[in-house]
Amino acid sequence: MIEAALRRKIATGCRIMAHQGLSEDILGHISVRLDATRALVRCRGAHEQGLLFTTPDDVRTVNLVDGSVDHADYEAPSELPIHTETLAARADIDAVLHAHPPWVIAVDLAGHPFVPLVGAYNILAAKMAKSGIPVFARSALIRRPELAREMLECLGSGPACLMRGHGVTTVGATVEEAVARALAINSLAKMTARVTSMGGTPEPISESDMDELPDLAAGSNPRLVWQHYEQRLAHDGLSVEG
Ligand SMILES: [Zn+2]
Repeated sequence: MIEAALRRKIATGCRIMAHQGLSEDILGHISVRLDATRALVRCRGAHEQGLLFTTPDDVRTVNLVDGSVDHADYEAPSELPIHTETLAARADIDAVLHAHPPWVIAVDLAGHPFVPLVGAYNILAAKMAKSGIPVFARSALIRRPELAREMLECLGSGPACLMRGHGVTTVGATVEEAVARALAINSLAKMTARVTSMGGTPEPISESDMDELPDLAAGSNPRLVWQHYEQRLAHDGLSVEG
């Protein structure tokens, strides 16, 4: 994909994140690997308007070695090490998403584990919860590579890592996949909150029901999810222009 289209895709992904409540204001970012030393990253500019209003211009080429940005009006997010260290450690993925979704953080802080309490309701969420969504128990801002590497020990080779009192990091082969995974965790968090607020205890669905759920990892689900949420942006007049 040419870089202009990729910038637009990252901007759309950031808007979807904010539109769906995964980011309350300016915090959150997505990156995509360009080559061994460069990535496109949602950066901070002088006219920052928040994640919901991300433009392709907010997505800059960042040097993964020294953190420099290709435009004087922009700087890399303070948590750039999340992206640089994850891209370095995970040759199997090209996209990294980091957000501060309030429902996910609240459910974890309330002491509720993320279990596959739903099945067909949200198959991706059920699969991710069944595999286990690891929790990085530190709430620090990840401004240093050492901290990012601590988080990566928690993420391992998986699709997502919950960061206690902080947020989530998801990865994917594409922006669509990383966004779909973040949306799935958010959906699971909201359902867990609903169940517990009604006095219920989230219990995993049965193994036999889990076995009836198809594997979406290599399927079209992330693309379909993306198309749906992109259309919701359009419906609310929030499409990325260009
Ligand atoms: Zn963060």
